[in-house]
Amino acid sequence: MKDKVVVITGASRGIGESIALAFAKEKAKLVLVARNPEDLERVRGRAMEAGAEDVLTVTTDISKEEEVEVMVEVTLSRFGRIDVLVNNAGVGYFKSVKETTLKEWQTMFDINVTGLFLCSRGVLQPMLEQGSGHILNISSDVGRRTIAGGAGYCATKFAVQGFADSLRKEVQSKGVKVTNVLPGMTDTYFANSEQGAAHKADWLQAEDIARAVLYAASQPEGVLVDDITIHPMVQEY
Ligand code: NAP
Repeated sequence: MKDKVVVITGASRGIGESIALAFAKEKAKLVLVARNPEDLERVRGRAMEAGAEDVLTVTTDISKEEEVEVMVEVTLSRFGRIDVLVNNAGVGYFKSVKETTLKEWQTMFDINVTGLFLCSRGVLQPMLEQGSGHILNISSDVGRRTIAGGAGYCATKFAVQGFADSLRKEVQSKGVKVTNVLPGMTDTYFANSEQGAAHKADWLQAEDIARAVLYAASQPEGVLVDDITIHPMVQEY
């Protein structure tokens, strides 16, 4: 991955931070994207220490079309190309359908689905011009199966799977890869939780997801990984 330009959304903590550090160790050039500039700056420091060739932070709300366009422009003017996009930013509200508000429903779709579409569309033009590129989506195991108490979140991740599987068919022949990584329960700050909380000791660690992303991203040019489902031993699929 040395010298590859890698854009990571939701890079300010949790799984996105670990993905950033994994690519940093491979000496990639990173573009870290999230809404909180202080958190991004902290991860930028860690990534530089870990060996990244260069790190750009772009404070962006991925659900806003203009902000995503600026993020892509700033990336291209700094690095001239985009090799990898990791669509990782996401939110979840885990409630019964009866209790889910319209605002919660819309926020999940705005970030998990529309934001992922906007970032993917933003990087496609440079990738298609290059004749190469890789879009990796952090979906979820509930993008292929359902659970009770998270219907809205499940619906967004099923949408991610549908979008990504269709996009793969659109761009594969033009040299652009699309991969979905579907994690099970992972110890992060997700859904307003505490990373490192005792009850999550047996869950996946963010580094486990980062390793799967790096595996898919570093395959030879002729090898395409469609999906990786990964879950902790304590969770049945
Ligand atoms: P997390 O610790 O809460 O991190 C979420 C990241 O997304 C943060 O960096 C956050 O930064 C960013 N983000 C949220 N809204 C954004 C927006 N509108 N624009 C830009 N960035 C935004 O959660 P995580 O577990 O690492 O989640 C990462 C991905 O993994 C999500 O897509 C989630 O659905 C998926 N996933 C998680 C689990 C799990 O058990 N943790 C399981 C399966 C899948 P800011 O708030 O600063 O914007």
